[in-house]
Amino acid sequence: MNKWFLSAELFSLIIIFILMLNFYERRWKGFPKRKIYHFCLLTSAGSILLNILCVYTIDQAWNIPLWVNLLCNSAYFLLIVAVSTIIAYYLMRLLFEHIYQQRQQQIFAGIFLFLYLIFFALILYNLRSGIIFYFDENRSYCRGPLINFGYGIMGIQLAILICITLRNLKSVSLPMRRVMRILPPIILLLTAYQLFYPDVLFNGGIIVAANIILLVNFQSRRIEQDTLTPSGSRKSFHQELTLRLGGHQHFQVVMIAVHTFGSVNHRYGHEKGDNLLYEIAKWLEELHPSAHSFRVGNVEFTLLVPYTGMVASRKLLDTIQKRFSEPWHVDHMSVVLDVSIADLICTDQDWNATDILEFLNFSLSLAKERPDRTIRFDEAVYRKMEQRNQIIKRMQQSVREGLFQVWYQPIYHCSTGKFSMAEALVRMLDPDGNPISPSVFIPLAEQHGLISEISDIVLQNAGRLLAETEPEQLGSVSVNLSMQQFMSASLISDLQALIDRYRFDPGRLKLEMTERVLSGDIPRMHQIMEKLHQMGFRFSLDDFGTGYSNLSAVLDCSFSSIKLDKSLIQGYSDNRRSTFLVNAMLDLFHHMGCQVVAEGVETEAQARALISRGADWIQGFHYARPMPETDFLQFLRLHGADFADR
Ligand code: C2E
Ligand code: CA
Ligand code: CA
Repeated sequence: MNKWFLSAELFSLIIIFILMLNFYERRWKGFPKRKIYHFCLLTSAGSILLNILCVYTIDQAWNIPLWVNLLCNSAYFLLIVAVSTIIAYYLMRLLFEHIYQQRQQQIFAGIFLFLYLIFFALILYNLRSGIIFYFDENRSYCRGPLINFGYGIMGIQLAILICITLRNLKSVSLPMRRVMRILPPIILLLTAYQLFYPDVLFNGGIIVAANIILLVNFQSRRIEQDTLTPSGSRKSFHQELTLRLGGHQHFQVVMIAVHTFGSVNHRYGHEKGDNLLYEIAKWLEELHPSAHSFRVGNVEFTLLVPYTGMVASRKLLDTIQKRFSEPWHVDHMSVVLDVSIADLICTDQDWNATDILEFLNFSLSLAKERPDRTIRFDEAVYRKMEQRNQIIKRMQQSVREGLFQVWYQPIYHCSTGKFSMAEALVRMLDPDGNPISPSVFIPLAEQHGLISEISDIVLQNAGRLLAETEPEQLGSVSVNLSMQQFMSASLISDLQALIDRYRFDPGRLKLEMTERVLSGDIPRMHQIMEKLHQMGFRFSLDDFGTGYSNLSAVLDCSFSSIKLDKSLIQGYSDNRRSTFLVNAMLDLFHHMGCQVVAEGVETEAQARALISRGADWIQGFHYARPMPETDFLQFLRLHGADFADR
């Protein structure tokens, strides 16, 4: 009579049930690898139950037909090695998770199956030979010479897994590396214990150990999952890229940024907005059998697919473009989303994950400007990005070393013929001393948190110039304020500090802002303008006639002058339509009590026509280009009052 200790098996069974409950509670469905884990748990529970049943049938050997005992024990051996095979297969899939080569996976799956079939044949052979186990004449269970053959198979599986890990180390995820560090020694230790104490049934313990280690792996993977959609998180995108790059994989990444999502949330509510994001992620995930989608920003997705050639990659991009041009139907809403799309093909270039993210983000910023809103990262895009990076570096250096200059463009006062106004225009020089246009670097300064430094340089310069000149010599200076500068919390205190420092009449400093500022947070903007008005500053509306000219916003705000953009002036006097438009604006703004500055006047004809039609001020290359301060002061001395008489 065999005396076996079942307590370890019972304990293992309880733990397996707890793992199963945990699994069902999370409802991890749909993902093939999770299905395999589910199968691992089911077969593990089955094998332990069968082991307990076998102990009972062996104990009751005289009351139970021999064939039942043989069958139960054979089934147990088959099941326990099946569990080990399934776990090995599952681990192998996880090890290959970040490698596209399907072929190797198929080969190893074949090897595992082959090993199992050998064991299966051995169990059948055992029925006649008893080389694994048999029942003697007393119906006592006896171990055959090959009783530990199953452990041998487990050992081979483990060795294969270790080899795969070592060969593809750079493409194996951190949690999997951890599993592969912990699992083999624990399995070996437990197996050695079982071989040493065969009467304590401990196979269930080995299985439980494997399942728990896998669960820990699962847990860390859950954190990498996006909370809202079936996509991965930004962090997991970074990890995925690093692993694919480590394994020299060829892949295509598509990045999709949704621009109008705020209005979807606003119109339909956040819950429906979230459901729409879920639908997008699901659609992306199902686009390709090996596709992985990630939500890398609030409304920014990336898709990673193996690269199989130009045609397929172009087709994928077209499919995405087409889908986003059509409406999304979710929860009885139908929305067409405004998106920009950028893609990149990585064929083992010397890039890292951070580079790729930077390339994609930069490409997206270019895609926004294109009619089809789509771009592929290539050499030309790379060069543009390099130029931009150079400008950012130069800007940082210019801030550090005080290399920015403020130039002034004289503005002609039509009724007095004096240049009694000027616009302060910031200049950054490249290392060769050539000026870089502020329209290029101001937006970058805003993105990279340098705008307040630049703003301060311009304000301090203009403030000092006003303090050093008489109002008869230079009536006023206008400075440009971008949306970010205007909305900055410190604008009012900065301007107060400026007048405290230089003690000039604030009415001599004009703050220029564009219509874009008027499209922002209107109540807050009104508040700031009101306060600055009370302090004595005046406002000028810049670039009128570009973008979305919003007359009601102009009416709402108290501008002392309106600057008609150079694009309107360019056709003035020789284009009937623009002549008509400018004349109408001159009348309209004069009726509103605003002065009109015509910008970008380049010809004598334009200047004459504008003067005769009643423009108040003229700014343009016809009279003077922007110039350094010393030249400007010289200009005022030479051309101040008598320019009109020339
Ligand atoms: P803006 O405010 O419209 O400034 C006028 C721009 O038109 C200047 O370009 C000036 O050189 C140019 N301009 C003047 N007369 C003519 C003309 O007759 N023909 C042509 N084709 N152009 C003329 P600049 O200095 O390159 O400045 C470009 C833009 O950069 C400015 O446009 C302004 O939006 C921005 N900017 C310049 N300085 C600053 C600043 O200190 N702060 C901020 N936020 N933006 C600035
Ligand atoms: Ca301006
Ligand atoms: Ca302007």
